[in-house]
Amino acid sequence: MKIYQSFGAGVNSVALYLLLKQKGINFEAVFVNHETDHPETYQYVAYLREQGFQITEIQPNYEGFSSLYEYCKFRKFLPSIYLRWCTYRFKLQPFWNYVKTPCTVHIGISAEEKHRCHPHERKGIKSKWLLVEEGINRQACVRMIKAAGLEPAQKSGCWLCPFQSKQQLRRLYRNHPGLFEKIVELERIRGNKHTLIRSASAKWRYLPELTALPLLRVLIYVAKADVVPIID
Ligand code: SF4
Repeated sequence: MKIYQSFGAGVNSVALYLLLKQKGINFEAVFVNHETDHPETYQYVAYLREQGFQITEIQPNYEGFSSLYEYCKFRKFLPSIYLRWCTYRFKLQPFWNYVKTPCTVHIGISAEEKHRCHPHERKGIKSKWLLVEEGINRQACVRMIKAAGLEPAQKSGCWLCPFQSKQQLRRLYRNHPGLFEKIVELERIRGNKHTLIRSASAKWRYLPELTALPLLRVLIYVAKADVVPIID
């Protein structure tokens, strides 16, 4: 039976890759490139390849789009914290379409995130969470990566992700103002009726009354200031 790793290029993925190698497991690591990950993630994948990592890269094709960003722009909407259609259409589905069943898929979830272990919905795909099985937490993952002489991965994810922390947004604003501007533009073209903002209690709120204060202004505010907007 073919064995795959769902490879996201984050800390857990890299640690899992190393663990699978240590165990002598013959597997194919598959990275879905939807062109909307942080630039650092693509640089990191290139770096890992230079270090000998064998990573298959595939692209989504959802309604003719390989780029999550281009799809959002075309549809005039953004990923949502309530419905993770972005993950499903631009990460999971392309992966499921690629793998040959029956197969085993290794997923990089560290021990403290056990609650995130959900089996693949597709018939013929058996999910495995080796890091959880072996009690390897995120800190141990970082240690494994360093022990292998590798640079640690940065947190993976999309630059337009609504789950980003204010620090991540601020980093994006400073390091990649062009990408930040694209979020602003997306917010502008979707003709924002409602917006989402993270309150001081770190909970996202749906705030229809903020029609006059589109998310883009909140984003700029969060990125420029060293505070979280307080709306309670
Ligand atoms: S990182 Fe965020 S925006 Fe990207 S697929 Fe996941 S939930 Fe969606």
